[in-house]
Amino acid sequence: MTPEEADARIEAARKLFAGPIAFLKSAPDLRFLPEPGVPEVAFAGRSNVGKSSLINALCGRNALARTSNTPGRTQELNLFEVGDPLAFRLVDMPGYGYAEAPKDLVRRWKHLVNDYLRGRPVLARVLVLVDARHGLKDVDRELMTMLDRAAVSYRLVLTKADKVKPTALAATHEAVAGEARKHVAAHPEILDTSSETGSGIAELRAAVLDAITA
Ligand code: GDP
Repeated sequence: MTPEEADARIEAARKLFAGPIAFLKSAPDLRFLPEPGVPEVAFAGRSNVGKSSLINALCGRNALARTSNTPGRTQELNLFEVGDPLAFRLVDMPGYGYAEAPKDLVRRWKHLVNDYLRGRPVLARVLVLVDARHGLKDVDRELMTMLDRAAVSYRLVLTKADKVKPTALAATHEAVAGEARKHVAAHPEILDTSSETGSGIAELRAAVLDAITA
């Protein structure tokens, strides 16, 4: 890609998120999903990874994702519609890895996520968020295995990059990218982001554009 092509890609991605974005609905199971028709890009990650903050930064809105994250809706897929005409649906997947999550809740999460990954052909890509301070945890690896088995393309994204020193960030980036390369459905390159400083957000928008135009 030439520098001009790279700039054009970033600009097209900025435009994608500059139009209207609206919360559509929460879906506790697949029957509540809207008619397919446009691609979907989903965001997943451990609870507290910074998923709501990242979705809000991506969309340039302050409280878009928060409104849908009220307690009780946490085991649902939250759908947002991006663009007019509608370009794609952004899907906020329920967080996982709560320390004290009852077994029943974990089972429900697995059912919902597996159903969605396997039963939704319009799902173009999942962005799996990983806290830059912690790197990959076993619960993240479990999700990666679910994605590999469902043959859903995914990409790892480090969050809260501002919270770690550049050398530590580089080391975590290498370690996480190294693991990504061992997973068949994972994109070999990972992204570093910070909702706080905005670093990596333009690149993440471009990664979403890549996912829906691939
Ligand atoms: P979620 O549970 O994954 O939706 O996580 P939230 O978006 O609610 O974020 C969890 C906590 O991390 C909140 O206190 C946020 O303010 C904080 N946080 C999220 N993203 C960032 C970031 O990029 N940098 C910093 N320093 N803090 C962040």
